[in-house]
Amino acid sequence: MHHHLNVDRKEVSDIPVNANPLFTRPGEATDFPRFALPDGPSDPQTAYQIVRDEMMLDGNARQNLATFVGTWMDEYADRLYLQAADKNMIDKDEYPQTAAIETRCWTMLADLWNAPDPTKAIGTSTIGSSEAAMLGGLALKRRWSEKRKAEGKPVGVPNLIMSSAVQVCWEKFCNYFEVEARYVPVSEEHLVLDGHDLASYVDENTIGVVAIMGQTYTGAYEPVTKIAAALDAIEKDTGLDIPIHIDGASGASIAPFLQPDLEWDFRVPRVASINMSGHKYGLVYPGIGWVVWRHESLLPESLVFRVSYLGGNMPTFALNFSRPGAQVLLQYYQFLRLGFEGYREVQQNCQDVATFLSSQIGKMDAFTLRSDGTDIPVFAWQLADGYTKNWDLHHLSAQLRERGWLVPAYPMPDNLGDQTVVRIVVRNGLSHDLAGTLMRDLRESVDYLDSLDAPMPEPRVKQGFSH
Ligand SMILES: *Cc1c(COP(=O)(O)O)cnc(C)c1O
Repeated sequence: MHHHLNVDRKEVSDIPVNANPLFTRPGEATDFPRFALPDGPSDPQTAYQIVRDEMMLDGNARQNLATFVGTWMDEYADRLYLQAADKNMIDKDEYPQTAAIETRCWTMLADLWNAPDPTKAIGTSTIGSSEAAMLGGLALKRRWSEKRKAEGKPVGVPNLIMSSAVQVCWEKFCNYFEVEARYVPVSEEHLVLDGHDLASYVDENTIGVVAIMGQTYTGAYEPVTKIAAALDAIEKDTGLDIPIHIDGASGASIAPFLQPDLEWDFRVPRVASINMSGHKYGLVYPGIGWVVWRHESLLPESLVFRVSYLGGNMPTFALNFSRPGAQVLLQYYQFLRLGFEGYREVQQNCQDVATFLSSQIGKMDAFTLRSDGTDIPVFAWQLADGYTKNWDLHHLSAQLRERGWLVPAYPMPDNLGDQTVVRIVVRNGLSHDLAGTLMRDLRESVDYLDSLDAPMPEPRVKQGFSH
């Protein structure tokens, strides 16, 4: 009869015995080639250990205050993830239930974002907000060109209007799909796109305006109703009917819960489409985004592919073909698990931690807040005017990194480019308790830097600006 001391012991005993101790095996004791395929196979335990050890050298996800992307789900989600790891999202005919769940998810989002009739909305899951933004942008571009042609008017070079503080995915969209990016610069007077002077950017080749709900640099919302009002005035003057696409990568899963009265979504008639990152405040592991159009008529039929195989005929609009289906199921799990009230609680807690931190940091002599975390739970600060010591914010970031905290310092865009800011993204998992430890480490870092009586050398590694 077998006696197992514990579960670990049992698992180990099920694996064929390799006489060598783990860290002295070939591959462990010698180096695997790094840039060429190894000549032959190796023990799975050895290969596993090598990969695990390399993973260990990455930063600690819980102390990563640079990223917006989810790093924690509960154990039931982990279980589902493993069980769904083999599902390919494009096999809608083979996995009709996963396809049905995808439709339920974006219909729920259409409803959450106040589409006039969610059953008449249309949407899809994507790999993230970047792909979702490309699809939103492509629909704007195609609608514009089809309209121009139908009116017998020339189709010139299309342009898209947005803040100079947009996330890089919009620069990519314009570059890859040959659309002229018309950037409205951010300045001290206009920290976000707010509709001022919009008429000087719009012409008959404008395919749309992007409004950001939760600017990457500061977390600030752009005032969608003001932008819409400016476009209403332009339409009155010129007859040009310019749609708005909302980049709600973060904010589309914050505003419905924390600012329910703020009108930024399909309540604003000019808003044609909205993207959101399921893997940000949608609370799913990396690899999921969503895009929803207010009405199916806003997604040109000429962009939809009808893939017929395995006997099925499925309409799709995507840049990729095969991609993981697991994240869609995880999104559905979170929707069922948390519901509206659960999401509200999680987001409120993040916001409470963000405003706690920003109020503490705002009180320190060294700093001035750039934002306070009351839009999305993200805030940024800069050195106070006239605070000239022997250090800058890159040194602060390096000091925090020594204590395991990943907090980036980076310049603001264009007109504000001479200003460096530090940003903290508060995500589910940064508890009040951990935030207290962060404040202690931050104060100690500032005290240490203040005590230096010669200029600090440039940090060797600068913490990158993570989107
Ligand atoms: C993160 C982010 C994106 C890109 O989203 P991914 O899901 O990482 O592709 C786009 N826009 C904004 C405002 C973002 O914050």
